[in-house]
Amino acid sequence: MQLQDILYTQGFGTRRVCAGLSQQGFVTIDGVAVTDPGTDVAVVDGLRFTVQGTAWEYHEKAYVLLHKPAGTECSQKPSTWPSIYTLLPSPLRLRPNKGAVQGVQAIGRLDQDTTGLLLLTDDGQFIHRMGSPKHHVPKVYEVTVKHPLDDAQVQKLLAGVVLDDDPKPVRAAACEAVGPLHLRLTLTEGKYHQVKRMVAAVGNRVEALHRSQIGALVLPADLAPGQWRWLSATEVEALR
Ligand code: URA
Repeated sequence: MQLQDILYTQGFGTRRVCAGLSQQGFVTIDGVAVTDPGTDVAVVDGLRFTVQGTAWEYHEKAYVLLHKPAGTECSQKPSTWPSIYTLLPSPLRLRPNKGAVQGVQAIGRLDQDTTGLLLLTDDGQFIHRMGSPKHHVPKVYEVTVKHPLDDAQVQKLLAGVVLDDDPKPVRAAACEAVGPLHLRLTLTEGKYHQVKRMVAAVGNRVEALHRSQIGALVLPADLAPGQWRWLSATEVEALR
């Protein structure tokens, strides 16, 4: 693929802008500036290059994980708090799809005050499959509650509680009290404010909420709030 096309598909701007980046010596592969935008490059997923000193990887589809900090909204047009999309570098937000700027989108949403693991991609089929009720990917939440937990609350969350918008009970796939005020809860569905509403339904209250795991994917301990990284091909496959 021509270098300018690689840059274009990865969200570095119009083909003209991408050609300019190359001509100005701003693009390096293996440490060498590639100044001819028409240079044919053998692309493989994960190909590394730098643009204006920033390391980048080529991915036909982008799959990233973000450590969502508190005080951010999972919306492109947030009402009160900064959008999580401002935490991502512009190429991830500007990747084209069928000629239009699309960028990556969050797979599901976390509340403004919830922290932790959030996945984003520009693979529409992947978003659809992950959001489907038939696709029961377990999601693990670390929940800090207001009142000391008792076994009855844990048992009720496992047995199922009825929320106000659906007579069908929802239950935790797993639930354990890991401290007097700390619950570890696994859900395989994602209703609006589900953890907060389930905890309220058993007479307690969520003080803080953190998503630590989706399927086999655990939020990396060395990824600080606000930071992101690419998912490996193996991690993406494991989520499918
Ligand atoms: N459940 C909630 O109540 N909030 C979240 O952000 C995620 C799950």
